Amino acid sequence: MTGWVTVAGLGPGDDALVTPQVAQALDQATDVIGYIPYVARVAARPGLALHPSDNRVELDRARMALDLAADGRRVVIVSSGDPGVFAMASALFEALEDQPDRHDTDIRILPGITAMLAAAARAGAPLGHDFCAINLSDNLKPFDLIEHRLRHAARGDFAMAFYNPRSRSRPQQFARVLEILRQECTPETLIIFARAVSTPDECLTTVPLSQATPQMADMRTVVLVGNSATRRVGRWVYTPRGAN
Ligand code: SAH
Repeated sequence: MTGWVTVAGLGPGDDALVTPQVAQALDQATDVIGYIPYVARVAARPGLALHPSDNRVELDRARMALDLAADGRRVVIVSSGDPGVFAMASALFEALEDQPDRHDTDIRILPGITAMLAAAARAGAPLGHDFCAINLSDNLKPFDLIEHRLRHAARGDFAMAFYNPRSRSRPQQFARVLEILRQECTPETLIIFARAVSTPDECLTTVPLSQATPQMADMRTVVLVGNSATRRVGRWVYTPRGAN
């Protein structure tokens, strides 16, 4: 039996947003590896070994997947959203770099619907012109770099999506992010706090920057910041496609 490793995105939460390609890989898998809440979304069945693990052990997970595949297992590493967006696909290649004897492993990356796109669709079209995505977690990079990129994205008048905006371990940091936005953008800039999109807990709140508070975000929220032309139309928020 030839083993393989697939890194699959489960989408933002709703099973209807799991692609057929990902569902098929899960059907063929002998092993599923990933962060506890993501593995919990995979239906148990005979012949399928589930390997849930805690957060922050991405490289261990990736090495385990490569080991299992070398033993002939069919391994799916699950991420939420898209596996290439602040998730496991890069971790797998990082682990692969250290293991030249495994470079021929049969690897596939299956895309998923990432949080910012699911959130944008719910709000209207806030990312309809140029935009960028910034991970606000400082687990893997210094906050100075986050601040630097944030400031330049704001000066470039990009719409922005913030992943991992707030956590218990860094309660003050999102306040600092709002402070930087207030220095670089007008008070009318629209901000969408999109929480638990496509799940029963979904909640979207849109406010001008002047009314945004750190408490509006948590780890289940993706924050979308409009550019200077982003506006409301009825209950929707959109960014026009042309030059602003
Ligand atoms: N790979 C994932 C992102 C992982 S980082 C993706 O492509 O979506 C985890 C962050 O994603 C969370 O802190 C939050 O900012 C965002 N996120 C994931 N699922 C979400 C959802 N259903 N609703 C809102 N934000 C979500």
